[in-house]
Amino acid sequence: LEDFYRKADKLNAVGQLAAGLAHEIRNPLTSLRGFLQIMQSGRAEKAEYYDIMLSEIDRINSIVNEFLVIAKPYQSNAQKNDLVRILQSVVTLLEAQAALNNINIATEADDDFPQVVCSEMEIKQVFVNILKNAIEAMPRGGDIRIQASVLQGSVRIRFIDQGEGISEEQFPRLGEPFYTTKEKGTGLGLMMCYKIIGDHKGEISIDSALSKGTTFDIMLPLTSDF
Ligand code: ADP
Ligand code: MG
Repeated sequence: LEDFYRKADKLNAVGQLAAGLAHEIRNPLTSLRGFLQIMQSGRAEKAEYYDIMLSEIDRINSIVNEFLVIAKPYQSNAQKNDLVRILQSVVTLLEAQAALNNINIATEADDDFPQVVCSEMEIKQVFVNILKNAIEAMPRGGDIRIQASVLQGSVRIRFIDQGEGISEEQFPRLGEPFYTTKEKGTGLGLMMCYKIIGDHKGEISIDSALSKGTTFDIMLPLTSDF
């Protein structure tokens, strides 16, 4: 019976997540439909709608992608990887977006930073989301520092931004599905990060001060028994 309840509970959680997903996808679909109807009736200039429609489609795509990572049971395809190289590729990926916002990104790594057993694709998604969040928190520009350090038995990747920070009410809600303070956010990014880092037996910790900035620490163990 206990087992039954545990399963029922799990189903309930999945059902709630699915309901949230349906809701989050229906919103941009409704707006896409509305724009198409207006365009079909020939009542308006089409050009100005293209940007909005494209960004709504991108949003649906991000929601589905992040949701798939969260829902996927962990299958280890972990290998020894050079985390600093992965980090640098993510910085390169987001450099243009950072520059557009007058943000400079500096990366430092300890000498002899070891190889870490992890899934490159998944860790990359974590770094992309944390770095994107940092950029999005700094509309007036500034510096983002990334530090890769070797600790005892683990490594730590630290992301320090000079953004708006996270308030005390917001703090406990981080990582909750669909919790976002952004107009175009999915609110699934951090949940995805927690899932991936959890699968790697690592940890995420966050330190933040309002209008000063936020520091995200990603710790990954140097063992590989996951
Ligand atoms: P999204 O980026 O789509 O909003 P996330 O799950 O990645 O979803 O983040 C959830 C929320 O956490 C964000 O909307 C934001 O309010 C807050 N947040 C995350 N990272 C930062 C940061 N570096 N600085 C300030 N707020 C942050
Ligand atoms: Mg995000």
